[in-house]
Amino acid sequence: MAKLLNDKGHGFNTYPPSKGIAAAGGVSGMAEHSFNAAVGDEVERLLKGKLTTYGAQPSNRADVSLATRIANYNAQYQSDHTSIGMSHHGNAGASSVRGFGVFYWHTSANGKKLAQMVLAEYKKEFPGYPIWGTGLFPCVPGTWTDFYLVRETAAPFVLIEWEFFTNHAARKLMLTVDYRKRCGRVAAKAACNWYGIKFEESQPVVAPKPVVKPAAPKPVTKPKEEPKVDKPIPAWKVEYNRQSVLAKKLGFTDGTRPTENTSREESGVIAARVFEAVLKELKE
Ligand SMILES: [Zn+2]
Repeated sequence: MAKLLNDKGHGFNTYPPSKGIAAAGGVSGMAEHSFNAAVGDEVERLLKGKLTTYGAQPSNRADVSLATRIANYNAQYQSDHTSIGMSHHGNAGASSVRGFGVFYWHTSANGKKLAQMVLAEYKKEFPGYPIWGTGLFPCVPGTWTDFYLVRETAAPFVLIEWEFFTNHAARKLMLTVDYRKRCGRVAAKAACNWYGIKFEESQPVVAPKPVVKPAAPKPVTKPKEEPKVDKPIPAWKVEYNRQSVLAKKLGFTDGTRPTENTSREESGVIAARVFEAVLKELKE
């Protein structure tokens, strides 16, 4: 079911006696398994939620035999034929030799393709860093490159020698958390490239500092509301209103159409009503 068979090189009991180096050249010693495990762990961390990973060699545990690892990897491959694999290592050689290299089975076109993708990502991540030879090594039967793990693992499989721990400058680099994490990123990116998955490392969102202090935004001014003060009623209107109320009360007008002109007929009716009202007043 796993997509990436993520092999962490060796178990912790491999150094001592071998797979490591004591302090030399002013640089601390290093157990290869600690480097391999750190890279493999970072690959796992980065691929969480993107690709399923499986490692037959757990970090900081006793060495699992290659035969057992191969059997487990092939069982994974049987359940998912789209699986690929990587085994992480530190290289050993003459103290003057250094650089990055990837091994693939010589007849495996997919293995070679995967190796090329890992190398390309390494060059992108570490431009100008030493590459061992061309950086690509076919594993050929009957030669020193005939690696058991690469030969017997059914999935397209690469063995990555990230650098030479026997070179003091390279070991100084390999001892850093930064290099280990970046190697993990190279492998995780290559795996994502293989499957066409976009690799996005989640990083804390930090707002970039503006170079120029932005001008303070213009304050949004509310349109001034007119103070609600009753407009003074002109004197003529006061008198007009008083008279119309009175006229209506007295029955001179019916209160309708107060602003319209009065016809001669209506004026006559009003005059008659006024006359009657005056008479009524006089009688009482
Ligand atoms: Zn190794």
